[in-house]
Amino acid sequence: MGGSNAEKVASLSATTSAGAGAGPRLIMDAELRSRAQRVIPGGMYGHQAVANLPPHYPQFFVEGKGARIRDANGVEYIDLMCSYGPMVLGHRNPVVEQAVRRQMRRADCLNGPTEHMVRLAELLTQNVPHADWALFCKNGTDATTLCVTIARAATKRRKVMVARGAYHGWAAWCNPNTNGITEEERSNILYYEYNDLDSVIGLLAEHGADLAGIVASPMRHDIKKDLLPVDPEFARRLRTICDQLGAALILDDVRCAMRVDLRGSWEPIGVRPDLSAWSKAIANGYPIACVLGSDRFRDAASSVYATGSFWFAAVPMVAALATIEEATRIDAIEMMRVAGQRLRDGLASQARSHGLAVTLSGTPQLPFMTFAGDGQLTKSYLWADECVKRGVYLHPFHNWFLSAAHTAEDISRALDATDDAFGVVVKQFGRD
Ligand code: PMP
Repeated sequence: MGGSNAEKVASLSATTSAGAGAGPRLIMDAELRSRAQRVIPGGMYGHQAVANLPPHYPQFFVEGKGARIRDANGVEYIDLMCSYGPMVLGHRNPVVEQAVRRQMRRADCLNGPTEHMVRLAELLTQNVPHADWALFCKNGTDATTLCVTIARAATKRRKVMVARGAYHGWAAWCNPNTNGITEEERSNILYYEYNDLDSVIGLLAEHGADLAGIVASPMRHDIKKDLLPVDPEFARRLRTICDQLGAALILDDVRCAMRVDLRGSWEPIGVRPDLSAWSKAIANGYPIACVLGSDRFRDAASSVYATGSFWFAAVPMVAALATIEEATRIDAIEMMRVAGQRLRDGLASQARSHGLAVTLSGTPQLPFMTFAGDGQLTKSYLWADECVKRGVYLHPFHNWFLSAAHTAEDISRALDATDDAFGVVVKQFGRD
């Protein structure tokens, strides 16, 4: 077990001829991995651990600028993961960085918040139609867990419905991995199938009277699957069910917020949640999350005890203000849409000309691609690895993220790499 990543990479550096010089290319990353194996359980953990990714994925990075990142070996990539979401304006966006530097000169972590907390709550409640108030925390998991807690406090009920396979964070109630989690901790969680109204209704007869809330993602974005847009009728019926039963409709907008619509990701379909969880992109990489809620849940929100040593820090709040204002000013969502559409169109036409059947799913700002009949993702792994070898960082089984910093040139350089990578897939597996 111990040292396996490091060994894998060390052996790669001796065998591969790809990238900017096979030998030196991997030395720093390999060295860090082997040191990490001794002092960090598993060498790395969580969604950014590369143990389950193809062999050329670097584990450690040194810098990012705009749409580019550089790994510990000094190799540069066009970044199509954006730190798994946060970098919505691109790495080290000058407007955000300037606001952050200014605040850093004054204070970050104090005995209480600064005025920026109030300004940020004012801005979010102005921008997001369903929101009358905001609570701030640090991570997406904090925000989704707080939504569930508020729903239970408001309704004095226990049951919460979530879509089977959806990710809402690492807390006991929603962790996809059950190691260290007791059955009791999730005994009040019920599972429905995304977009399947019957699966929701089927749970109501037994549990409707004890239903505190229904949690939904703006779209189905489970790993290893094509993304699925929400059926607007499904969302509307969830709204009606929650209204009829007095339960909370909770939108987990952690991944999509600020990429689909600055007003919240279900605003285009006209379905307004009672509570929504935001994080990732709201402060362009600075650690902050929030719960937005309607007046009906205000008293419950102020009745629960929720806090953290770093929750009220000023710098991430300033970063969020700057990010939201800048995203609005430049119409970041449209910029991401244009860049993402260019990427998707390019991939679709390349796949066609290589004779490969692919499915492009998600939205242009959060795209994803799978190969037809590739249930084990063997083609995806090979293709993504070939992209990484050619300086394009995307993911074989998690949706990708665009930022407003992706230029037409970034996308066409990315497409040069993806075209070659398709060629390698054809060489190994043939045409469809
Ligand atoms: N909900 C969704 C939809 C997410 O994508 C994530 C993070 N991948 C979370 C919740 C949890 O957020 P965090 O990792 O910041 O706790």
